Amino acid sequence: IAKGSGVSGVSFFDHTANEGVERQHQIDLALKKAPIPGEFSLVYQPQYTAHSKQLIGMEALLRWNSSELGFVPPDAFISIAEENGVIIPLSEWVMKESIRQITEWNRRYGLSLAMGINISPLQLDDPRFVSKLDALLAEAGAEPKWINLEVTERSAMKGEKVLADLFKELSRRNISLSIDDFGTGYSSLSYLKRFEIDYLKIAKPLVDGLADNETDRQIVQAIVMIATALGLRTIAEGVEDESQLAILDHLGCDEIQGYFFGKPVNPQEFERLHLKRE
Ligand code: C2E
Ligand code: MG
Ligand code: MG
Ligand code: MG
Repeated sequence: IAKGSGVSGVSFFDHTANEGVERQHQIDLALKKAPIPGEFSLVYQPQYTAHSKQLIGMEALLRWNSSELGFVPPDAFISIAEENGVIIPLSEWVMKESIRQITEWNRRYGLSLAMGINISPLQLDDPRFVSKLDALLAEAGAEPKWINLEVTERSAMKGEKVLADLFKELSRRNISLSIDDFGTGYSSLSYLKRFEIDYLKIAKPLVDGLADNETDRQIVQAIVMIATALGLRTIAEGVEDESQLAILDHLGCDEIQGYFFGKPVNPQEFERLHLKRE
């Protein structure tokens, strides 16, 4: 069907949207062929306390350098990997490698830093999720308190008893749980009470507006107040400058992640920038 012919009743005037579909198809095909870990790697971004500026952990972020497509950012491939199922073996590697890495660092430097690992909603559907995690921790010799699982409101909103039980299991082990991108999704405050979580991760768009948008500042303030009332900690993501840091510290936000303290970098760089000078 020629573009714009409208034969099927669907118009194809939007050239960029059409390219988007083609691109998604390429990504889908390349993902299915991509060797794991082969074309994938992890970078780590530091997390510091807002007030005393102590390193407390890092987040593992996936990178894909496709032999066919070159570098493809996570926002362009994670949702496709969730659709075609590649996220399952990929996530298993991410968990294994990031747990191995935090164990190595904590042992080498005598620290007790926490590794933030992004968890896809699909992984939470796996009834063996916790036992797989147990096995990975045992294999690495990692302490459960070194692990902080990041789930989005998308997962948390499922609202099922299964999820409440899962979070309880994790909490019982002392594995921390964060709600990622908090304040951007369909936030329902009721789940905060129902689920055993540890952190609210304040979404970057809210942090972006802190310095010159009064509404964003008030929303962040409200999030910190809710967290305090419920005994949760807060971490802000996407903090890029000192004025944002100062406001967050003033509002009582506990921890900070963002370019201001460090971009996501490969393990060697992370060690050089954040661990060796401890
Ligand atoms: P996220 O979990 O919310 O991760 C934070 C994102 O914000 C990262 O993007 C990080 O590089 C970026 N970021 C952090 N600080 C700053 C800042 O100061 N300024 C700016 N402009 N950006 C900042 P990234 O690495 O592109 O990852 C995007 C998303 O992809 C992640 O958002 C997460 O949802 C997903 N993702 C990444 N790795 C994994 C993974 O291993 N598994 C799963 N399931 N999802 C992942
Ligand atoms: Mg995250
Ligand atoms: Mg707990
Ligand atoms: Mg986030």
